[in-house]
Amino acid sequence: MHETPAADASAGAGRLPPGSGGAADDRVSAMPELPDVDVYIEHIAARTRGHALERVRLASPFVLRTADPPLAAAAGRKVVSVTRIGKRIVVGLAAAGASAAGSAELYLVIHLMVAGRFRWKPAGAPIPGKLGLAAFDFDSGTLLLTEASTKKRASIHLVRAAGLAALDPGGIEVLGSDVGTFAARLRSENHTLKRALTDPHLFSGIGNAYSDEILHHARMSPVKLTSRLTDEEIANLHASIHVVLEEWTDRLRKEAGEFPEKVTAFRPEMAVHGKYGQPCPRCGRPVQRIRYAANESNYCPTCQTDDKLLADRSLSRLMRGDWPKTLEELEAKKTQSRAAAAPAGSIAARAASFIPARPPAGAGATPDTAPPKAAAREPPSAAPPKAKGAATPDTANTNAKTTARQRPSAAAAAKSRTKGAATPDTANTNAKTTAPQRPSTAAAKSKTAARRAGARRR
Ligand SMILES: [Zn+2]
Repeated sequence: MHETPAADASAGAGRLPPGSGGAADDRVSAMPELPDVDVYIEHIAARTRGHALERVRLASPFVLRTADPPLAAAAGRKVVSVTRIGKRIVVGLAAAGASAAGSAELYLVIHLMVAGRFRWKPAGAPIPGKLGLAAFDFDSGTLLLTEASTKKRASIHLVRAAGLAALDPGGIEVLGSDVGTFAARLRSENHTLKRALTDPHLFSGIGNAYSDEILHHARMSPVKLTSRLTDEEIANLHASIHVVLEEWTDRLRKEAGEFPEKVTAFRPEMAVHGKYGQPCPRCGRPVQRIRYAANESNYCPTCQTDDKLLADRSLSRLMRGDWPKTLEELEAKKTQSRAAAAPAGSIAARAASFIPARPPAGAGATPDTAPPKAAAREPPSAAPPKAKGAATPDTANTNAKTTARQRPSAAAAAKSRTKGAATPDTANTNAKTTAPQRPSTAAAKSKTAARRAGARRR
């Protein structure tokens, strides 16, 4: 159906750029992925193929990212094809004056990014005020491009064939690939599964939402390294990609009705994506998350990671070095820290700022407890804890204390922080050594420190 299934041209497949911030829920990316884009394409193709594009209206000149050929060159051409490159929608336009039966000469490439959406309206419909970016006026109706975000990231390129190739990062279409091709691509670089699946240079059209769903379906850990996969595991993963993407495309196709209006990555039928804390539909245990940079992944520990919890920044801040290894431990820790919230500011809390904390035995001993920095660099990385000099929250904290107590080594300590542990979160942890502490972290810290102080005195 799609003539040029190729690769994802989006930078970062479902990852928001650092600093794009906003509410915590923004971390669960809403970028349309392959199923959403395919359904858009079917609807747009049905309405525009063989019809003439009369003109393109822009609400803002910034949405157009190319200057040559000029946008006016698109006007009057017949639509030959509607396809995609990864998550970008590609409208192929015939040579001026030629019929739609020939090959395309120019291509309109539209990237929705996170908040871009399409609407189909009667010909000549106005571009809606705040949200409207552009209108594509066909002789059959008007395709509106909107973006419900103050960060205008959606884009339009008008390119010739050579320019089209330049927009293609080269990921393969998994649905069009056999297991052998898929395996070769998966093993071409050693990454965590989550990273590999969402890398547009490796695979096309899979982003944060569907990679969560695929890994849950395949019962595989998002941080498993691709170099460690058996042939059987790869075949299993390949099958899960087919099942999940095909099932979802069918579902979205049925839901679309006249035209797909409700394109979102938050869907109640999803098993784990966007379901943090809710029961896994397979085992009923609460879905967990890994947060890194400006994104979030969801998974079920019971179904995917042998009940192991993967590093999460906010949790590791709360838990300090006592990273829980199982759901049971997590629940116990949460209860503990709630119970310990009362004596914040006590002698024990003050003691915490004088006694250098040691990483507890076993902290960071498994790949799953990879510290925040590693997770931020390669989401969600399973890098061995010491590989990149990344510090656990506890050792970062130790650095801060060392700085305070031993002036001469302050530069060295600062340097080591910069190298190893200077994520916003650990920096924040450092600051907390002197800054007023929030009750929960203060309590957790005081309890931990008091316990360690006790242990040291014994
Ligand atoms: Zn489960």
